[in-house]
Parts: sequence; C-alpha cells; structure tokens
Amino acid sequence: MAKQLQAIRGMNDLLPEQTVVWQYFERKVRKVLASTGYSEIRMPVLEPTELFKRSIGEVTDIVEKEMYSFDDRNGDSLTLRPEGTAGCVRAAQQHSLLQNQTQRLWYYGPMFRHERPQKGRYRQFYQIGVETFGMEGPDIDAELIMLSARLWRELGILDHVRLELNSLGTAADRKRYREALVTYLRGHVDALDEDSRRRLESNPLRILDSKSETTQQLLKGAPVLSDYLDEESRQHFVGLRAMLDEAGIAYVVNPRLVRGLDYYGKTVFEWVTEELGAQGTVCAGGRYDGLVEQLGGKPAPAVGFAMGVERLILMLETLGLVPAEVHNQVDAYLLVLGADCSSYALSLAEKLRLAVPSLRLVVNCGGGSFKSQMKKVVRSGAPVALIVGENEVKTRTVGLKYQDRDEPQQTLSLEQTQNLLNQQLA
Ligand code: ATP
Ligand code: MG
Repeated sequence: MAKQLQAIRGMNDLLPEQTVVWQYFERKVRKVLASTGYSEIRMPVLEPTELFKRSIGEVTDIVEKEMYSFDDRNGDSLTLRPEGTAGCVRAAQQHSLLQNQTQRLWYYGPMFRHERPQKGRYRQFYQIGVETFGMEGPDIDAELIMLSARLWRELGILDHVRLELNSLGTAADRKRYREALVTYLRGHVDALDEDSRRRLESNPLRILDSKSETTQQLLKGAPVLSDYLDEESRQHFVGLRAMLDEAGIAYVVNPRLVRGLDYYGKTVFEWVTEELGAQGTVCAGGRYDGLVEQLGGKPAPAVGFAMGVERLILMLETLGLVPAEVHNQVDAYLLVLGADCSSYALSLAEKLRLAVPSLRLVVNCGGGSFKSQMKKVVRSGAPVALIVGENEVKTRTVGLKYQDRDEPQQTLSLEQTQNLLNQQLA
C-alpha cells in the first residue's frame, strides 16, 4: 500500500463536527459587524514579501523568523500573509478607497506563521480582522473596542476576558523613551535573558513583554512609556478612556503592552483570557496612523484589530458555550425502501424543500435495509424520519415517524407533510 500523506505540522483540518461550531461563531461575528456598518473585503493570501517587511518591520519576530517566504517561478519573492492589516492597506490604497473618505472594513481568512505548534498556536490559523481608515479621534478606537465587547457578550465570554490598554504615543515619543529604556537596561545587562539582550540593540521596546521572570522583575524599576507621551497622545488616551468608562467597559491600563508589530502608535489593546493557558490573547489591535503613508499612500489615520478564531472557539468549547442545536444539521431524513422508489423519493424531497424553505432534508441514497437506514436516521440526529416504500409510491403519500416521540407512524399526503414540517420548524 502506498504511504499515506499527512497534513503539514501546525496546519489543521476542520472536520464537519468542528465546522458547524465555526459557522456558529462566524454568524455571530457577521451580525455584529453588519450592525455597525462594516463591509467585508477579501485579499489574496500571497503578497509581495516587501509588503510585510515594510509594514510589520524588519526586526520583528514575524519578519525575522516566522514568515513563509519563497521565490516563485519568475524569481519574485512572495510571502503567505502572516497577518491581514498590511494586505488590507495595500488593497485599500490600490483601489482608491482611502482618498477623502472614511472606511470601515473587515476580512476573514487564514494567516501563516512558522511558529512552534501548540494549543492555540498554529502555523495556519484564522483571523477576523477589522480595519478603519480616515478617522483620527479616539471615538473610532472606542467604537472598535465596544464592537468587540458586544461580540464577547453575544458569545457569552465577556466575563472571561480582560481588556488591556496602553498608549504608545508618537514615533518621536517612542524614540525618546527607547533611549531612556536602553540606558536603564544597559546598566543591568547581566540580569537580562538572552532574547532581551539581543533585542536591546534591535527592538528594545519588545523587551517589555518578555516572558522571562527576572527580566520582568528588572522592568519594575524601568522608565515607563506613559511619562514620555506628547500632549496630543495623552489627550487621545484620556478621551478613549472616558468613552469606555461611559460605555461601562472595564479595562486595565498595562504600561508594558507594546504589541509585536512596528506600525502601531497611540492606542494599543488586547483582550486576554485566563482560560487558555499561555496563548491567552484572543484579540489584539491598535492605531497605525503612519502605515498608509509608509506604504506609499497619502497619509490617513487608521485603527484596527484582529481576533484569533481558533483561540475564541477553544474558549467557547472549554466553557461549554456552544449551543447544542449547533450540532443538529438535519431536520428530516427520508428512507427509501426499494430501488424502484428512488425517483419518487428524490422528487418528493425537492418539492418539500421548495415548500418548506428552512427545511434541511437528507434523502437516503445507495439503498440498504430498513434497519441500516434507520441507523443512519439516528446518526443524522434528525427528529423526523420520512419513509417511502412501494405502497407510498403507489398512493403518492409518505410515511412520517417522529424520532423523539412515542407515536405510531403516520401516512400523509405531500400537503399534510409540508404543513407538519412547517409547524415543526416554526
Ligand atoms: P501572540 O503574542 O499570542 O504570539 P501576536 O501578538 O503574535 O500573538 P497578533 O499578530 O496581534 O498576535 O495576532 C492577533 C491574534 O491572532 C492574536 O491575539 C491571536 O489570537 C491570534 N494568533 C496570532 N498568532 C497565532 C497563531 N500562531 N496561532 C493561532 N492564533 C494566533
Ligand atoms: Mg506571535
């Protein structure tokens, strides 16, 4: 026998019993986004490598060691997108969506990062991202956060996530802060973990979210970014916090929250949970007012976030918050008792689907004994079994038997069946 091939490590198949949960989650997200006036945009999964280098930043974890990049047959360097913001900005710019207008966009799709696979961390994972353009005040930051909070409430997880907020100020603020931080840390190099020592030269702000205990201890005495913010950034942050207070959205200001991508400035935020172990960030975002210009466009303020779909679904499952009916995919299963009955059964099924628009009806194909077909009814979870045998074909009727009630089988006309099913599904 030939050797069976396996999926690539860290890239998951989603089987039917999982896709129904994903669809449930997706319906909730779409509803919340539509109700707030956001429009969907779809971008390719492949982009020029240059796009990510110029946006995310050369000395970030993503660009340094996580991207799937390769030369295509023309020798152009392409990369499987590790995130969606860069491609969304590229697309919006390319199609002139940013000129003198505001935009509220969202996208959904797979992202790719060569990380060590573990629970909540995969090499192909899904994000739903939301990006807005052309609005510079804190009101839109607040809208985004309120929108995400509403989604958590819809999903039932609001009590299990914590909102962390920070302001990164302007590029000039961060430059002044970086110098102060580096000066402080240089005085304590021996206490720094290896990763942080390397970052001291390349990307010192990232040291702030180091996982090392001793480094975190050391940071307690370090200068804090909030002392380096200019007046405008400070006011922006005050404004945002006032709006969140007014909306009753709880948050904690985390002065060490920096995010791993270079394009962020002013507001950054993360929704974090304790339910998932180390992979606790389920949604993260912030403001990136400089990115559009950096990618060659006319300057446009922007703010957005992305949520990790696998982590949110893991949360729903861990907390037992997936409604049971999500797994019921079939309302009725039609047994076909005899090869000669198939054409009657198939066209009967089409008539029923036409007359009962929400009906989900499976017809037994491929024959089988009554017993084996009944087993399929049970496996389908359908509460109603419909039955067609020679008798029903002759009399143009159909048998109906409820699976969840102890009642005898009924023989019904097409019209009676439609009425019963309509009642059942109402
Ligand atoms: P982390 O700190 O967990 O590595 P990140 O800062 O790299 O996350 P972002 O680039 O901000 O994450 O992506 C937004 C969200 O996408 C994350 O909060 C997380 O929910 C999800 N995410 C990121 N990387 C992965 C991954 N490899 N597998 C699954 N989900 C991921
Ligand atoms: Mg990461």
